[in-house]
Amino acid sequence: MPISESMVQEIVQEVMAKMQIAEAPAGKHGIFRDMNDAIEASKKAQAIVKRMSMDQREKILTCIRRKTKENAEILARMAVDETGMGNVGDKILKHHLVADNTPGTEDITTTAWSGDRGLTLIEMGPFGVIGAITPCTNPSETILCNTIGMVAGGNTVVFNPHPAAIKTSIYAINLVNEASLEAGGPDNIAVTVEKPTLETSNIMMKHKDIPLIAATGGPGVVTAVLSSGKRGIGAGAGNPPALVDETADVRKAAQDIVNGCTFDNNLPCIAEKEIVAVSSIMDELMHYLITENDCYLASKEEQDKLVNIVLAGGKLNRKCVGRDARTLLSMIGVDAPANIRCIVFEGPKEHPLIAEELMMPILGVVRAKDFDDAVEQAVWLEHGNRHSAHIHSKNIDNITKYARAIDTAILVKNAPSYAALGFGGEGYCTFTIASRTGEGLTSASTFTKRRRCVMSDSLCIR
Ligand code: NAD
Repeated sequence: MPISESMVQEIVQEVMAKMQIAEAPAGKHGIFRDMNDAIEASKKAQAIVKRMSMDQREKILTCIRRKTKENAEILARMAVDETGMGNVGDKILKHHLVADNTPGTEDITTTAWSGDRGLTLIEMGPFGVIGAITPCTNPSETILCNTIGMVAGGNTVVFNPHPAAIKTSIYAINLVNEASLEAGGPDNIAVTVEKPTLETSNIMMKHKDIPLIAATGGPGVVTAVLSSGKRGIGAGAGNPPALVDETADVRKAAQDIVNGCTFDNNLPCIAEKEIVAVSSIMDELMHYLITENDCYLASKEEQDKLVNIVLAGGKLNRKCVGRDARTLLSMIGVDAPANIRCIVFEGPKEHPLIAEELMMPILGVVRAKDFDDAVEQAVWLEHGNRHSAHIHSKNIDNITKYARAIDTAILVKNAPSYAALGFGGEGYCTFTIASRTGEGLTSASTFTKRRRCVMSDSLCIR
């Protein structure tokens, strides 16, 4: 008896039901109800990706980059609406930065030794399926940037995004799969679950098919990943100080610091979180901050009110994170002029608004008696995160001394912090800066294994 099309459909549906293959919600690629199903789908996609030529992988990445730019505004608006953090204009820029400056397959290189005893190569191969945990502060930027790097390295990726940014994260994950399909690649190069929780994160971290986990977030998640028994890339918290010494172009320093600090309402982990200034230029710096850079000088009473609301009950109030300066001031009853971009005040390094990583445009300024004192206070404020620090100085001995003392993955000199991401500075972009585990600014090569390939006594043709 000939088999009709409807019979084929019935058989397929029956088999699917028996295999309990979870389907993505209508119209969404890479989104699953169950974490185990998501990992299974990712594994199947990786089996295809690892056999693809570099040229084919690059075609997928080109399509992801194009779609990221086409959707930059939608993603920016969605993230601001969903999380209430940041601002649309800067988030659009961040998406363009990811699309244009995240390294692709050119980052996957080979090292060779050729000599009398033959030829030896070190090649970068995929780990397989990578687990990735992403923050609510740069949700789609991190997902798009991680996917470009991980797929360039021949991997696929399972995300457990921050629940507070799940809509935006799902949009980005669907987008990269659409890009892959359009470029002739497989579906599910990036996957996630509809409702990410600590439980789904645990399933991912413990899963036998996930050899590597990349965690981008605060100290809790990095510690959890590093305790998982798996290899972990830990991109943790920062509290970057901007040091200004007596040799700096103080006027430019004030402008650069406010530009960096207010970018996306201070959400980037690399953004200036406080200033340490040597006493001799302190007043001049404050003058430029207030008169030329739209900073609001908070009184002692206003600082106390800010502490009560921003760190209510000693805990960082999520409702204040990523808000603009005027919104923060309105929360303490101050109706600030429309041009105000940042809140400043002078205080000791132990002031809670200075010592804590706030991720909002509040810049406490700490006075130091001289350069050595400034370095000491800045190192204290960085809390050993080894993440990011900034300096405004024309004295290379001072810059060198600071760089050695603070020992961070990023040190920006005489520019806004975002120069570290290739925005107004040289170098590539990433939204996963592996401060805790030492890889620094991650890229495709970070997500590969080094493999040695040896041919003894042959193939050396010199
Ligand atoms: P967060 O730590 O609250 O959340 C980050 C992610 O980790 C989320 O997906 C969250 O669900 C998950 N998570 C939190 N605790 C966990 C646990 N115990 N086990 C498993 N998963 C857990 O951070 P956030 O508010 O989303 O982002 C801001 C923080 O991230 C800041 O501290 C910032 O400095 C840091 N950050 C670092 C980088 C970097 O590249 N180093 C980049 C962006 C943000």
